[in-house]
Amino acid sequence: MSELVISGLKATVGGSEILRGVDLTVRSGEVHAVMGPNGAGKSTLSHVLMGKPGYDVTGGSVTLDDADLLSMETWERAQAGLFLGMQYPTEVPGVSLDAMLRASFVASGRTPEEVTDRVLVEAGRIGFDEKFLTRPLNVDLSGGEKKRNETLQLGVLAPQIAILDELDSGLDVDALRMVARRVKAATTEGDGPLGVLVITHYSRLLEELQPDHVHVLAKGQILASGGPELATELESTGYAGYAEEEEEPSGPVEFDPFGEPHGV
Ligand code: ADP
Ligand code: MG
Repeated sequence: MSELVISGLKATVGGSEILRGVDLTVRSGEVHAVMGPNGAGKSTLSHVLMGKPGYDVTGGSVTLDDADLLSMETWERAQAGLFLGMQYPTEVPGVSLDAMLRASFVASGRTPEEVTDRVLVEAGRIGFDEKFLTRPLNVDLSGGEKKRNETLQLGVLAPQIAILDELDSGLDVDALRMVARRVKAATTEGDGPLGVLVITHYSRLLEELQPDHVHVLAKGQILASGGPELATELESTGYAGYAEEEEEPSGPVEFDPFGEPHGV
């Protein structure tokens, strides 16, 4: 069993404080959904957890099974069992998906003989076209194909804890169902049940994933937590209750082509 414990996490990027004390614990077999307005810091949280360069952690701690995640390199975090499905998966010309998966699989201490079968089985489970295996990683893939690619990697590598940033973006309804079912299955089957932290705006993904906990990340903090009913509530209320205090608009009034004519 694994446990990712985030406590009081503060981080800045480009000189501004984006995370202002995030507390969240994700255990094996649990599904946590993080929702929140655009620019709230959801992707920043995912990047800081995985160790993407350019972010400065200014406070708090993150541990994975009592190991200090923040002192590790990104590859060490991956080896420790953390996985990130990125909102915008990186294109890597010159490296095929197959080669990347093989290298990651072996680096995690498993035998290369196992990987081919695993890849084919996983591709079938989510309807991912095998032709992408030999093409450069993510290059010229549609948004939805990239998300299937991320899910394929998740299935093959079988991490302990997965952060899935807007896994649903770009997926059509059928692909969304397949991908969500694959992730959900990982939380109950395999070498160890997967713990999931999924970032999303839409309840359709959550209907399939059935989160145990739903959190609202706004103003750089988890401002509310609840069960699945919180996602349903947000669908109708939006994030008005969690918004930054906005200043009165002071700029020039925009020209309205359908407005009343003046001076004619
Ligand atoms: P979201 O919750 O929509 O995923 P992000 O975590 O992507 O939000 O972004 C949070 C805030 O941090 C936004 O205001 C964004 O403009 C800002 N931000 C993200 N990356 C950088 C960067 N490299 N430099 C400056 N600001 C950044
Ligand atoms: Mg984001």
